[in-house]
Amino acid sequence: MRKIEHIGIAVKDIDSSNDLFASLFGKEHYKLEEVESEGVKTSFFKCGPNKIELLQATNENSPIAKFIEKKGEGIHHIAFAVDNIEKEIKRLTKEGFTMIHKAPKKGADNKLIAFLHPKSTNGVLVELCQEIKG
Ligand code: ZN
Repeated sequence: MRKIEHIGIAVKDIDSSNDLFASLFGKEHYKLEEVESEGVKTSFFKCGPNKIELLQATNENSPIAKFIEKKGEGIHHIAFAVDNIEKEIKRLTKEGFTMIHKAPKKGADNKLIAFLHPKSTNGVLVELCQEIKG
């Protein structure tokens, strides 16, 4: 893994949260994107070299809706940048980690993504992401 790519924060209302985080960072989000397969609306902020992703559920079966129901709003996942996501999934599976996604899928912000199950990572939801090139 190369570095933290972004930190994901679960929110109830992405519009009011966009205003809140714009005030916090002193600048607007640079991207709004809906990922239908995950049932989420996302927005991305840059804060120096770091990125923050806000996620709002678009339906009640969305993982974000379930998270907020259980834990409330807050930090949802930490995403790490990888160069070769397939290789990394294989490596981590071999190391004994449980993958939620055994194969990469298309995520927000032009990325291939895969999540690890938090039960195998001390309760931290970890996302792998690889930039889609071209
Ligand atoms: Zn993410």
